[in-house]
Amino acid sequence: MKVDVLTLFPEMFTGVFGSSILGKANDKGIVSLNAINFRDYSLSKHHTVDDTPYGGGGGMVLKPEPIFAAVEDLLTNSLKRPRVILMCPQGETFTQQKAEELSQEEHLIFVCGHYEGYDERIREHLVTDELSIGDYVLTGGELPAMTVIDSVVRLLPGVLGNETSAMTDSFSTGLLEYPHYTRPAEFRGWKVPDMLLSGHHANIEVWRREQALKRTFTRRPDLLKKLTLSKQDHKYLEQLAKESE
Ligand code: SAM
Repeated sequence: MKVDVLTLFPEMFTGVFGSSILGKANDKGIVSLNAINFRDYSLSKHHTVDDTPYGGGGGMVLKPEPIFAAVEDLLTNSLKRPRVILMCPQGETFTQQKAEELSQEEHLIFVCGHYEGYDERIREHLVTDELSIGDYVLTGGELPAMTVIDSVVRLLPGVLGNETSAMTDSFSTGLLEYPHYTRPAEFRGWKVPDMLLSGHHANIEVWRREQALKRTFTRRPDLLKKLTLSKQDHKYLEQLAKESE
């Protein structure tokens, strides 16, 4: 996968793209992560990228020309049109399902805003998607783009080693993940559940499923409505509902 990020602050990506799991995925060639300064595409004398809004009012608006030019440059040798994703608090809320969908693409281009916003023609005529990471406003699209890229890249085959698995993660199964424990078996008097020490793998799987259902029932009951559950799951949930009455 190729990931290009158009930003006015490419230096913000150095640490994130070069470290930990993303850094390794980049080094292994599973993904190519690039941060590009779209100021370099401004043809004005002072490399201006923003201007005051038509109609007056505060804040600066990102001009269309540099962002169009940067995206079009990236498209030059593309056989297939990549997804061009505008980071924006007004966009579709990012979810694990969206991460899975984007992980199937070969090339993603992210556009990070700053200041008051973008010239509307970028939204209307250049991008394929608008993504928000939640109902709050940040100073720029860089942290949101990093969030989306991290969650997409970790889904690519070969990125996560055996020590981490995306399969059972919260939201991947539609449920929140079951609780984890590691050594010591007893810490300050708090014991690891006996089931996990039993060595009985089939029973441990049942316990984990029930714990995932319980956690989701308690913390995010809205998620349960979207799932197709087994008879056994329903039975367990009915039992939980009775207990909570
Ligand atoms: N005036 C804009 C509005 O009310 O929708 C907010 C602009 S915000 C200060 C500047 C930039 O930060 C946005 O263009 C976007 O790229 C990014 N941004 C801020 N919050 C975001 C969020 N929740 N999700 C995605 N991007 C966000």
